[in-house]
Amino acid sequence: MYWKWKVNGEESLVPDAVLVDLRTDTITQPTQEMREVMVNAIVGDDVYGEDPTVAELERRCAELVGKEDALFVASGTMANLIAIMVHCNRRDAEIISGDNAHTFRFEQGGVAQIAGVQSALLRNKKDGTFDLNELRDKIRVDSDLHEPITQLIIVENTHNMCGGKVLPLDWLGSVQNMAREFGVKVHMDGARVMNAAIYQKIHVSEIAKYVDSICFCLSKGLCAPVGSILAGSRNFVAKARRTRKVLGGGWRQAGFLAAAGMVAIHTMIDRLEQDHIHAYKIAKAINDVGSHLCSVDLLNVQTNIVMVNVDRTKTSAKELLERFASVLPSDSVRVSVRACSRDPGFFRIVLHHGITEELVQAAIEKMVMVIKEFEENIQSIEKIPTYNVITN
Ligand SMILES: *Cc1c(COP(=O)(O)O)cnc(C)c1O
Repeated sequence: MYWKWKVNGEESLVPDAVLVDLRTDTITQPTQEMREVMVNAIVGDDVYGEDPTVAELERRCAELVGKEDALFVASGTMANLIAIMVHCNRRDAEIISGDNAHTFRFEQGGVAQIAGVQSALLRNKKDGTFDLNELRDKIRVDSDLHEPITQLIIVENTHNMCGGKVLPLDWLGSVQNMAREFGVKVHMDGARVMNAAIYQKIHVSEIAKYVDSICFCLSKGLCAPVGSILAGSRNFVAKARRTRKVLGGGWRQAGFLAAAGMVAIHTMIDRLEQDHIHAYKIAKAINDVGSHLCSVDLLNVQTNIVMVNVDRTKTSAKELLERFASVLPSDSVRVSVRACSRDPGFFRIVLHHGITEELVQAAIEKMVMVIKEFEENIQSIEKIPTYNVITN
């Protein structure tokens, strides 16, 4: 496998290096079966409701999550935005979410920018939940005329920035009860909710029953090339279909993509467990080095995401990631590992269909080598005595 890497900004070729790309699961390639069904898909104009393959995918996905209806949309971001716009159907609306929610952090503020809705935030706990007493305090429904009105609570499952954490069902039940008590709706950003169902060994409808609407990505661990599903009541989906159109999301012969989506839900859900096993293997191997530079909270590795903590007093995630990715002429381990980081204090790795058992071993070999190398370098620097140089 060939991969380009950068040295001082210059790209060069490392012809004999194996690439293990653990940045995210959106990079997954469609399977051979997906490619074949796409070529042969029966399609029509979906804006006119005339694409039988899209209709079939929507019907099956609604069934899968146990909702009345479902809508095929271009992305998870679009699914969340539509859900927010449909649930918040008044101008003084407020939503409540965790402060690490994807909808708050990584969707360009679409909640405010496009939906015109205010966000109230609750501190996300490490397990992806937030405190229920704080939630109760934040809900504003009997508002006086100074205040906005809470229309929607958003939960994220699995929780991306909390490291692929699966929301406990009893917590979801409590959120649902409180929402009902106040007449507020609940939306689940379930981009990776199939991973949650696999982890909990339950049918995904057992999770979706706690929320009014749910979306999930076909294009992440499920390997479809494009698309997400947004599901809910018949009435909700009818409004969602209308809202999708104003966002420019009315697509025509989308059945080509829906055909791949159908293969995704039929063939790619059960295998997610493999990604979870691989994630744990890598996490454990990092911890087994016994270095303070990189550590993983193993109890928190539940699905396909691993958050690796970096000792920022000694190095940064960026420096580590650069070394993971580079293959020097003198390196005996000819492996390039890519991961992603938004913070000097941690980096994230994501397992997916493209990462075989062999590649897992290769990644472990490289990462362990780099962590040991950093450890040695830091120790040798710390051994050098420092002198106070007085100038002037
Ligand atoms: C990826 C992701 C999304 C957005 O999906 P896109 O298809 O990339 O727009 C939303 N929520 C979570 C939790 C995600 O991980």
